Amino acid sequence: MDVVLDVMLLGQRRFHELGLRTQVVLRQLPLNLTMIFVCGISALADRADFADAGFVISQLLALALLTACAAVPWERLPRWSFLAIPVLDFYPIGLLRFSDGDLLPGLGLLAVFPILWLAGAGYRPRTAVAFGAIATLLMVWTPHFMDGTANIHSLASELLTPFIMFVLGVATSISALSGRTQRKRIEELLDRSETRQQLLETIVDTVDVGVVVVDTVGDIVLMNAQQREIHQSALPEGLEAAREPELLVYADSSDELIEPKLRPAARAVAGEVISHELYRLGRGQRARTVSVSAGPFRDAGGEVAGTVLAFSDVTEVVAAIRARDTFLAAMSHEFRTPLTSLLGYAELLHEDASLSPAARADTLVMARNARHLNKMVDDILAAATPGAAELPRTPLDLAELTRDAVDSSTPDAARRDITVTFTDDGVLPVLGDRTGLVRVLDNLVSNALKYSGGGSTVTLRAKRDGQWAVLTVADQGIGIPPEDLKRIFTRFQRGSSALRSGIPGTGLGLALAREVAVRHRGELECVSELGVGSTFTLRLPLRGELGARS
Ligand code: ADP
Repeated sequence: MDVVLDVMLLGQRRFHELGLRTQVVLRQLPLNLTMIFVCGISALADRADFADAGFVISQLLALALLTACAAVPWERLPRWSFLAIPVLDFYPIGLLRFSDGDLLPGLGLLAVFPILWLAGAGYRPRTAVAFGAIATLLMVWTPHFMDGTANIHSLASELLTPFIMFVLGVATSISALSGRTQRKRIEELLDRSETRQQLLETIVDTVDVGVVVVDTVGDIVLMNAQQREIHQSALPEGLEAAREPELLVYADSSDELIEPKLRPAARAVAGEVISHELYRLGRGQRARTVSVSAGPFRDAGGEVAGTVLAFSDVTEVVAAIRARDTFLAAMSHEFRTPLTSLLGYAELLHEDASLSPAARADTLVMARNARHLNKMVDDILAAATPGAAELPRTPLDLAELTRDAVDSSTPDAARRDITVTFTDDGVLPVLGDRTGLVRVLDNLVSNALKYSGGGSTVTLRAKRDGQWAVLTVADQGIGIPPEDLKRIFTRFQRGSSALRSGIPGTGLGLALAREVAVRHRGELECVSELGVGSTFTLRLPLRGELGARS
């Protein structure tokens, strides 16, 4: 019935959204309209009806009930009091049917209106349906008792209408109940989604990250306050607003504007996932450096519905990192000149035959320490230099590079009384950055010497292993405790055994070596036993394999 009434309202407003009084009038109206229709039929079919007091009274009663629907302030009465109207409706319907003397067949079916109302109201549906069926039964049987025609045949022949009303009542109450449950569920869901929406809006406005959501054609759906501020910095000087192509967007370390179609927003709309890319927005004092990430979001059906872009303002962090790197680079450079001179003079002194043997031995210590200091400066410089984004892909032979590293370590090995052996299976072709790889090999060999005692052996082995060129550097030195094995590849981390033994170092070499290995799509690992020795394994993709893998 609610649905019918919704349709009657032509979808302008939902029935349950109307005031209680209007609802009551609208529920009563169908009965009155049908009764008026009955008047019309009677006028054509049986004018005698109008002379019948029962017929007239039933019509007047129905009108009176409709007036009551409109006049009674239902809102101020107990909640379900309006159900008195459908209960009372049975009387005019019964009277009409009785007075008509069955000249108009089917008048008993008018009971459908109060039945639907009672069963659909949702108040004690079982009682309401039972009441409606009994009221209909009384309505059809009473005339027989009144005019003395009540017998088993006449009463039985009237049972169909009450039965139909009963079934209708049951069906209506069931559908009303499920409709109401559904509406309640939808209201709950709406409530929940509204709460979520508000929570999301609060989060988006509170976070320290600029957030923009664009739809599939790139139109902005949402932009938070933080992003509006970041956006301002990309505006050309003197402009309050600008279209995308006019915004000043630069790659982080360049002064060349990025073409609009290569900017993160355009690329993200085209379906690209962006992860932490650095851009500079705007010029001069107002310029900001932002880290941009973006990814698509999907609707409930799994279709891409747009893109979310997150802009983090990293201006201060980037400036601090640059200042640190510049400082380290300048400092290392400043150190190197006097160090080279110290080393040179120490070596000259060592050659001086006029010095006593003890003094000449001292010059060796001076030279060794100067070399050590030089190596530390090298490491610091390398750590301060950002890794090249694109590797120089020079064809190299890992076996040959290792042989060179072994050769250059010979004086150091001899001084420490350590034997270095190297075996290989021939050429090990790799693609890569010569300087970086030489640094890795030097570091592995010099560590093996540094952390081993006199009389021990350092064994290097270069071989092929499937698609890999593999180099192992094994020593018989102090070893590394298991708990230190992971962190020795982290910058400035040193093993406890090295610290205890007082061997100097920066803790940078292995971290840089692993970075170089990873940049070559390779890996650097270590197995070690405390007091027994350590084996470092460097794996790099063989040249042909690298092409096949990339
Ligand atoms: P550094 O040698 O300057 O301290 P590295 O990064 O080269 O820095 O090495 C990190 C740590 O790993 C060292 O401090 C040492 O504890 C440990 N280590 C590296 N190589 C060896 C080795 N061959 N034997 C024992 N310990 C080693």
